[in-house]
Amino acid sequence: MTNKRVYIAYTGGTIGMKPSDKGFVPEAGYFAEQINKLPELAYPDMPEIVVHEYDNLIDSSNITPDDWYRISEDISSVYNDFDGFIVLHGTDTMAYTASALSFMLEDLSKPVIVTGSQIPWSQMRTDARDNLITSLLLASQYDIPEVSLYFHNRLYRGNRARKVDASGFHAFQSPNFPALVKVGSQIQVNQEILLKDPSKPLKINKITHPKVVVLSLFPGFSADMLEAVLNSGIQGMVLMTYGMGNAPCNDMKFLHLLAAANHAGIIIVNCTQCLKGSVDMSSYETGQELLKSGVISGFDMTPEATLTKLSYLLSSECSVDEIKQKMQISLRGELSR
Ligand code: ASP
Repeated sequence: MTNKRVYIAYTGGTIGMKPSDKGFVPEAGYFAEQINKLPELAYPDMPEIVVHEYDNLIDSSNITPDDWYRISEDISSVYNDFDGFIVLHGTDTMAYTASALSFMLEDLSKPVIVTGSQIPWSQMRTDARDNLITSLLLASQYDIPEVSLYFHNRLYRGNRARKVDASGFHAFQSPNFPALVKVGSQIQVNQEILLKDPSKPLKINKITHPKVVVLSLFPGFSADMLEAVLNSGIQGMVLMTYGMGNAPCNDMKFLHLLAAANHAGIIIVNCTQCLKGSVDMSSYETGQELLKSGVISGFDMTPEATLTKLSYLLSSECSVDEIKQKMQISLRGELSR
């Protein structure tokens, strides 16, 4: 065993679930015990581990910003005692949590790896063993000072990852940014693209419950629906548009509503419905009209990163203008610009 130490925050998810008559459900006590008995922990490259099983293990579909804060606080409370951190989490909202943590854990200088599995540890064909063992190696043996997501032989930047397959083992992709690490018979770290160690103390930013919404356009979308959403007291909106950030330019009510909302201080961020590529509102009339209405570009950010970044900034002391400016630059490597 090396003298490295890794802290495992076990929040729930399929990885530790057991079959029941209600389908797979988390079971207190079971998985933490299994991890501690893992035979691979005896190998020389393996770190010493401490597993913290959360009181209320959850299916990640139940996650809220309060849970993100609890995870951040948990990591912060033991930050100086460990070399790396693993967050065991359900896959359904893993990309949201990895994105949120990337904004909440400011000036991170140690690896925080979020992982889970498609098949529970308790089942014969589980993918949990590999995901956990490789995450332990990466969290202890490599200097990767950022929040990342490990799944099926790839380590991705957390705020670049998306769940793309409901059941396949290759469940995550990072469509607009290369994998940080490729794991095969060799472990290949893409050193040049890693975030740099800020050499500063860790700072925790809380995401409160800002009133944000994700709204996806579709042919036949009515401006009345937009009006209802804008009148619901929201502070920010991620508008999921077509292609390079396009929306109807022949619906005056739609455009006027956006302009009025912007004028009232509601921040509207344009995010493409495409899996890959970037928003560029200058390309088409249908994009330029949005730009004129005060909609700002989310460039190539994932919807998960856009939503959590907007939530983080709306929870901060920043003014509307500062939030708009920060949404359009990279804070944690979430955007290519
Ligand atoms: N529903 C599960 C969860 O997100 C799915 C999984 O973990 O793979 O907690």
